[in-house]
Amino acid sequence: MTNKTQETIYERALRVWHKEPQMLQVIEEMSELTKEILKNVNRKKDNIAEIVEETADVEIMLEQLKCCYQIKEKVEAYKTEKLKKIEQRLDEWEQTHDK
Ligand SMILES: [Mg+2]
Repeated sequence: MTNKTQETIYERALRVWHKEPQMLQVIEEMSELTKEILKNVNRKKDNIAEIVEETADVEIMLEQLKCCYQIKEKVEAYKTEKLKKIEQRLDEWEQTHDK
């Protein structure tokens, strides 16, 4: 499925099911992923299939959130800058801890 097709579906979902319920769905999906991560880490549950499913659900809802608030480009720009800082911190960490 192309990015263009996916975006059309996100925009359609927002139009058909409306913004507020879809933004609450973002929260619901994040909560479901949170629960699966906690089961995996705290209870050592073999739930990779559930983690895959909930990660996909969260990613789909985050794409809708970006459409809803029209922040896709700003999020991408922030991510690029944030990743540079993380990379820098990793470099510094490895220089002081690995030697
Ligand atoms: Mg889900």
